[in-house]
Amino acid sequence: MQSILIATNNMGKVDEIYALLDGLDLAIFIPADLGIVLEVVEDGQTYAENAAKKAAAFANKSGMISLGDDSGLEVDALGGEPGLHSHRFCPIPNATDADRRKYLLEQLGDKPHPWTARFRATVAIALPSGEVKLATGQCEGEIIQNERGSNGFGYDPIFLIPELGHTLAELDMNEKNRLSHRARAIQKAIPILKEILGR
Ligand code: IMP
Repeated sequence: MQSILIATNNMGKVDEIYALLDGLDLAIFIPADLGIVLEVVEDGQTYAENAAKKAAAFANKSGMISLGDDSGLEVDALGGEPGLHSHRFCPIPNATDADRRKYLLEQLGDKPHPWTARFRATVAIALPSGEVKLATGQCEGEIIQNERGSNGFGYDPIFLIPELGHTLAELDMNEKNRLSHRARAIQKAIPILKEILGR
């Protein structure tokens, strides 16, 4: 059976990507399965650069085809911030997801509603040879003041999908995987992956 490594240490992402790749008849590994500890510095200027850098680092270390993503939340009232810096923009040392949500809401303060926003993801598939293929996805929504739901991770409890009337954290993983930025990018990446695998 052919194998793939999920190139991330973020367990929220791991669960989603695992489910999205399920059914491809692949042995799916995460870094911990292989004893790989790798912190990749995300110093690219784009999601694509960071995604490629992460996936390539894991492919190089493992010798396996590796799939990773770089993602971010862009809030219109903040001029597209935190965007590429979504993970690091809260200045508290060792900030948690809850700290990041609180900090984002503080930045929004009394700016006029609705706080339209989108998640973007770029998925990178890297081969041990260094070759990298990319796919992108996005998910439109709105930031809300009060957290709702306890599923997912990151900004999910304050990211409302207006058409559904639910935040991403109120959806179960399969529902989130039908419409999220990451899911859309991976759906586009799957044919690329199949081609790489010669299927
Ligand atoms: P990175 O892709 O590792 O740079 O992290 C991006 C950051 O954006 C994450 O740490 C989360 O805070 C946020 N983020 C990315 N995707 C999601 C998502 O699906 N739900 C909630 N937050 C997300």
